[in-house]
Amino acid sequence: MAEEVEKARFAGPGGDTIFGKILRKEIPCNFIYEDDQCVAFNDISPQAPTHFLVIPRKPISQLSRSEDSDEQLLGHLLIVARKLVKDLGLTNGFRVVVNDGPDGCQSVYHLHVHVLAGRQLGWPPG
Ligand code: AMP
Repeated sequence: MAEEVEKARFAGPGGDTIFGKILRKEIPCNFIYEDDQCVAFNDISPQAPTHFLVIPRKPISQLSRSEDSDEQLLGHLLIVARKLVKDLGLTNGFRVVVNDGPDGCQSVYHLHVHVLAGRQLGWPPG
């Protein structure tokens, strides 16, 4: 956890990201879902038995930099998250997380929705 916080403290918006490379298929990644607006794939460092990310194809760096015109896209990310949870048979609940900026512990500056499930999650988050 400390390592992730450290990484996030020094990350920031601007330029290409690893998710940009994934979207352009410059680095391999198995998509568990894709459509014309977004893709979903498993997190490389899962924090729960199920932990996947839903990311827009549009390179929005973070939620706080999204625009009013992104309303449909932002809603779509949540609808896809909900459908994938259902398809995966996760009937006991799940958590959706969007980290934003240094205090939010964002490390990759391409907007992404975390979906975590498969164990009892604690609250509040650290
Ligand atoms: P955040 O800290 O909210 O920016 O989350 C970024 C997430 O991306 C972390 O949970 C990382 O484990 C995950 N991640 C980074 N690189 C990859 C990758 N190549 N494939 C899948 N997940 C990744």
